[in-house]
Amino acid sequence: MVYNFSPGPAALPREVLQQAAEEMLDWHGSGMSVMEMSHRGKEFMSILEAALQDLRDLLNIPSNYKVLFLQGGAIAENAIVPMNLAGLRSPSGQPRQPGVADYIETGSWSTKSIKEASRYCRVNVAASSAAEKFARIPARADWKLSKDAAYVHLCTNETIDGAEYHFTPDVAADTNNAPLVADMSSHILSREIDISRYGVIYGGAQKNIGPAGVTLLIVREDLLGHALPSCPSAFNWKIVADNDSMYNTPPTYAIYIAGLVFQWLKRQGGVAAMEARNIAKAELLYGYLDSSAFYSNRIAADCRSRMNVPFYLRDDTLNETFLAGAKERGLLQLKGHKSVGGMRASIYNAMPIEGVQALVDYLKEFEKKQG
Ligand SMILES: *Cc1c(COP(=O)(O)O)cnc(C)c1O
Repeated sequence: MVYNFSPGPAALPREVLQQAAEEMLDWHGSGMSVMEMSHRGKEFMSILEAALQDLRDLLNIPSNYKVLFLQGGAIAENAIVPMNLAGLRSPSGQPRQPGVADYIETGSWSTKSIKEASRYCRVNVAASSAAEKFARIPARADWKLSKDAAYVHLCTNETIDGAEYHFTPDVAADTNNAPLVADMSSHILSREIDISRYGVIYGGAQKNIGPAGVTLLIVREDLLGHALPSCPSAFNWKIVADNDSMYNTPPTYAIYIAGLVFQWLKRQGGVAAMEARNIAKAELLYGYLDSSAFYSNRIAADCRSRMNVPFYLRDDTLNETFLAGAKERGLLQLKGHKSVGGMRASIYNAMPIEGVQALVDYLKEFEKKQG
């Protein structure tokens, strides 16, 4: 028995892997593996339709939103978002400041988004916590938004640095109704969200949804059809939406596994039930880290990620010993990202509370021995 704390590609529910193994050679008596099916055949169409419906149910996605399965991951979306939205006009018919987008900088991933978007539009960094080493989400009152931005971009959970939004910002009044665009790669389906507060939500699947290779995009219908002429067709949301995510061959096997994860989530009681569990898991881990002088987490208490918990040992030179001991106990992939060092425990939906308890037990034991 191991507990895998990988930030991504991350652990999947055991039941899902078991079912995929059982269906590997012959999906539902079709005589084919899902990998071998035409994406337009009735078998795969039924898999796709079920996955879409289950996701809509889980997230309560309103009917005026399209759900797209794309490729390229969240990193590709960093360019695809401005390519699709930089030409947006305001609903009043007033032209927005051409090609200006507001970005909130809260960690490594939003920094990357800013850098990439700057190649396609004029980026205004409306708020940043870089000077505080991304230890908090800048307060909404301090954001310097453009009056007519095409959109406002957030990364709502910073997977590397460990800060998460615990509020949905209202930007409409300050921006002439610019839509909110959120990279939710590492916490979508971990908590309830009001989709109607966002224009676009996107994420790579390999954190909390399924295997790498499929990108999920949820987009309000009125935001389709504004792409720059240079936008590749396969990344033009309107073209992909008009073709029901079948403009090019979608990543069929990854969609199938994501669909199994959606069914698993429903059996767990849905997103609200997962959120309650995720809160309990995060409280257990942060509670122990805070009670100890041997370990520390540097994120402001009200901005801490429930999914990705970076932490540091008091003495850096013990890192390798710590990781080796963890591995011996089946606690895997706890090493922090190279840009921030230390450790990181990623505790997505698939991590049971028993895994977090096993980690806390090891933290205690290691502290006793070395502290
Ligand atoms: C992992 C991650 C990405 C990068 O995803 P790719 O699939 O590698 O493109 C971007 N944003 C966030 C928040 C992530 O966690």
